[in-house]
Amino acid sequence: MKRKIKTTAAALLCAAVSTGMLTACTSSNTTAPQEQTTVSDSSAGSEEQAAGIDYMALVNKLSPLPDNWEDNIETIHMTNSIGDDVEVEKKAYDAYFELKAELEAEGVFVDLDSARRSVADQQRIMDEFTAEYGADYAAKTVATPGYSEHHTGLALDLYLIIDGKDITENEDMVQYPEIWAKIHEKLAEHGFILRYLDGKEYITGYGYEPWHIRYIDNADIAKEIMSKNITFEEYLGKASSEEVNIDLGNSQLYTKDELKEAAVQVKCAFAGFGCELKSLRYAGDECNSPENLEYVNSLDEDANYVQVVEMFTDFHTPKEGTVVFEPDTDMNDYRWLLAREQNGGWQIVTQGYL
Ligand SMILES: [Zn+2]
Repeated sequence: MKRKIKTTAAALLCAAVSTGMLTACTSSNTTAPQEQTTVSDSSAGSEEQAAGIDYMALVNKLSPLPDNWEDNIETIHMTNSIGDDVEVEKKAYDAYFELKAELEAEGVFVDLDSARRSVADQQRIMDEFTAEYGADYAAKTVATPGYSEHHTGLALDLYLIIDGKDITENEDMVQYPEIWAKIHEKLAEHGFILRYLDGKEYITGYGYEPWHIRYIDNADIAKEIMSKNITFEEYLGKASSEEVNIDLGNSQLYTKDELKEAAVQVKCAFAGFGCELKSLRYAGDECNSPENLEYVNSLDEDANYVQVVEMFTDFHTPKEGTVVFEPDTDMNDYRWLLAREQNGGWQIVTQGYL
């Protein structure tokens, strides 16, 4: 049972465009603390490391894990305070423990919730979800194997330990912004960056995750990234740093938060789109029409949508173009229809010049 819960939580890890919950990087284990760390080297030959991995590799919804990564990565296993096994890339592991020690000296206690997941693990989770819930649901819920930064072994999800108590749930962890600020301040000097910044969902594809840190093995670059408050994509020139102009209008039907949740879904989708999002606006309450509702339900026969939201976007296509779009072109009034079931989160149902 415990294993099942853990598997499910791992599967939901960083799967953005699904339930409307965009921060899902932690497991839901709440077992009693057990301070014990065991270390075992899982791979051979540190000479291999030289030929090994590129610590600056970008892995996101557009960029898969580089070839041969899993053959070259050297990892270490540890047991966290909850008793779970966590596997971390070797240098990231050392850097993490330096960071942890420094934080503890200031009374801040953290542990690792999860770090490396192999592509095979992710595929297994995808297969399990497909068998149990069908391919559609699995595709929406589980991060695509090969496209999760956790494959690298360099992405670590922290959790907090406060007064000896493990704080592992996302909704609990976000209650401690001052503690996260202390943690974030110390990341760069140990070669870590914060990966999923607030307000940069349209670049990273993920909502704000104060716990998800990434080792890049270069303190100078980490300091530059952290001091500029930019994403890894922006540093690497793989994303626009421009702010998206968002107009949520004056809805009588939905709260600002409800519309924001829908907007974040669209922004996240753009991160996997290769296009530069310029502006996004709510179409207005009349979009929740019987016709639109009938339309979205006709596109997904398993669904029973009860409300619709329509968003318009303006964006610029990439210089090299995409399968769908002409290169280097301004696109305006591109439509997105999102819908939700009773008590469900917004889901993108369809998009395009409908
Ligand atoms: Zn994560």
